[in-house]
Amino acid sequence: MTRLVIVGNGMAGARLVSEVRARDRHVKVTVIGAETWQPYNRVLLSNVVAGTMLPDQVRLLDPAWYADHSVTALLGVEVTAIDRETQAVLTADGRREPYDVLVLATGSEAVLPPVPGAAGAMAFRTLDDCRAILAAAGAARRAVVVGGGLLGVEAARGLAGRGLPVTLLHLAGHLMERQLDAEAGMVLGETLAELGVEVRTGVVVEEILGDGVRLAGGETVGADLVVLACGVRPVTGLAGDAGLEVARGIVVDDEMRTDDPSIFAIGECAQHDGTVYGLVAPAWEQAAVVADLVTGTDKTSRYRGSRLVTRLKARSVELAAMGETHLTEDDAEVVRFSHRARGTYRKLVIRDGRLVGAILLGETSAVGTLTQLFDRGSPVPADPSGLLFPGISGSAVAESPVRMPDAAKVCQCNNVTKGQIRACWESGARDVEAVAAATRATTGCGGCRDVVEGIVGWLCEQEGISV
Ligand SMILES: Cc1cc2nc3c(=O)[nH]c(=O)nc-3n(C[C@H](O)[C@H](O)[C@H](O)COP(=O)(O)OP(=O)(O)OC[C@H]3O[C@@H](n4cnc5c(N)ncnc54)[C@H](O)[C@@H]3O)c2cc1C
Repeated sequence: MTRLVIVGNGMAGARLVSEVRARDRHVKVTVIGAETWQPYNRVLLSNVVAGTMLPDQVRLLDPAWYADHSVTALLGVEVTAIDRETQAVLTADGRREPYDVLVLATGSEAVLPPVPGAAGAMAFRTLDDCRAILAAAGAARRAVVVGGGLLGVEAARGLAGRGLPVTLLHLAGHLMERQLDAEAGMVLGETLAELGVEVRTGVVVEEILGDGVRLAGGETVGADLVVLACGVRPVTGLAGDAGLEVARGIVVDDEMRTDDPSIFAIGECAQHDGTVYGLVAPAWEQAAVVADLVTGTDKTSRYRGSRLVTRLKARSVELAAMGETHLTEDDAEVVRFSHRARGTYRKLVIRDGRLVGAILLGETSAVGTLTQLFDRGSPVPADPSGLLFPGISGSAVAESPVRMPDAAKVCQCNNVTKGQIRACWESGARDVEAVAAATRATTGCGGCRDVVEGIVGWLCEQEGISV
């Protein structure tokens, strides 16, 4: 019997365990995770900080699941070394776990800025971090979030939603500069300001103090809660110490195999074709490929890379961004609509008649159509402006379940198309929960829930079933 050992019980590791069990009950599976919690949906931690979800609601697998599926799960156990010679991993509590196949799913860790006092501030990566933030937020009167990327924006919005005045400090000239152009960043900042977040960009934090942060130039921004959201770094130490090839992440091929054929790496710790992904959809696709290979279900299974859509999960701020959003008219055809007073900004970037990037801020109903064009590289309509205003009659493509083609990807995180949802409905699933149970749509970031509801509602209506 093949002994499969998985290091890391986060979103990639936990998915791999269930993908393996969905295919095979004979592989002997052991998953070892440093966190003491049952695996949880890290993507939803922003909702926990915002108070819209409880920690129990973000769990990925029930405690009983492991016993029911003959999986050994060691929680709160850190793997400290890989002995490739004898094919075993060693743990901090003195165990030695032999493997035939080893999968590293060690994820990323929060980067702390190299300034005095950073170690005493709070990072935002784990459920433990969330609990610490929430405990401190209860007694705090003012918060500072350092870092205006996706996580910083979500943390700041979440804390402001709890009634705390928040200052969001960001080094770059505009928020979420990796995903957004300058104007979108500015509109986002204005939207956040209306929601109680003071945004300051282009500022350098020089020290984290007991009562706030000190900026370059000497100004102090007062706060009794400081949250750091300064980026993440892949956890590659184990792999590096074992002599595996590591660049920014652990280097893998299309089988997600490292340069040791019995060791794979998936999720945020892995580097595939030069890319380290920071979103969950690639991690879950990679887990499926490894499950196919390890169980022998599909020996031809390969991972070919992902095209990513980033969605913000912050109450009252609709934002989706994909692809090459920074291109200008010099390099591409750019269609843009901006209405700052309403917090709206939309941009399409088209090259050679194909959508290569898009930003939707303030209103994201077109995201499904744009994602489909972006994903599939289909030609955009001759007058692409209709894509920006899907609700207006006569526009080129309406974002309605009726017009959406079966191939349109509805759930980005789980790679579920409208056609799969329809098939699932046809085999008896009559509400979103049943569709989620069968296809996993909506169970990642949850951003597609409205669309899934729309499709299910429309199918029911067609058949005259009341919903
Ligand atoms: C607040 C927040 C919001 C996010 N929002 C989104 C979003 O909207 N959309 C999206 O797609 N992605 C989002 N992400 C990113 C997403 O959560 C990650 O892409 C995903 O969790 C990656 O999964 P992973 O398993 O590779 O890493 P992780 O989920 O980090 O899991 C790695 C696990 O390995 C364990 N580990 C590490 N080293 C060892 C060791 N030596 N021994 C044992 N265990 C070890 C760690 O403790 C951890 O539990 C968000 C992340 C955060 C923090």
